[in-house]
Amino acid sequence: MVVAGCLTLCWAVPAAACPEDRTHCFELVTHVVHKDGTPVVDAAWLDAQIAHANRLFKPVSVGFFRVAPFRKLPASYASTNTRAQRDAIGGAWARGSIHVFIVEHLANVDDPGEINGVHWRNRANRSQRWILLSSIAWELTLAHEIGHFFGLPHSEYLISIMNKSPRADPKPGDRVFHSDEIARMKRRKKAMLKDRVLTSRRPDLP
Ligand SMILES: [Zn+2]
Repeated sequence: MVVAGCLTLCWAVPAAACPEDRTHCFELVTHVVHKDGTPVVDAAWLDAQIAHANRLFKPVSVGFFRVAPFRKLPASYASTNTRAQRDAIGGAWARGSIHVFIVEHLANVDDPGEINGVHWRNRANRSQRWILLSSIAWELTLAHEIGHFFGLPHSEYLISIMNKSPRADPKPGDRVFHSDEIARMKRRKKAMLKDRVLTSRRPDLP
């Protein structure tokens, strides 16, 4: 029987790292639903999302990192179908970092069907907000939701990952943030640092 490591040395190990060329680095505190002891996404899936976000946030001079291991979410959140679940899942929220909760399926609470991700505000206290991602998310979904965390609405810029209209050009992997969106996120970054919504740190470098 193979037992996963981490009995003593794996706590708070830098996993996805913040690129060295960034002025500010923010922790993504990652919570993942486990079913029968197995996470619904693996580290490679999550780190591809973080790497994509790190590429797109370079013009904002912001980077993201996570530490291993994942925090465990119970299987009762595997299908997160209701607003009440989206509120309750954030029980471990704390200010200073971006909390990301990864579930197997995330229902659209406004219309039938599933969604890839959502930036959610706790209805009991709207200053508490976090990101939910579905295991079916595109690789760029985390970057899109962090865009919302940095104050962006959906947009109509063809180049932008905040534009949800189906289109062939540019391809999803080539979409970025529009320069207006970058300027807006820089302003919001300043405000969030001032208000301590986010705390910049980088434990992954000496
Ligand atoms: Zn959106």
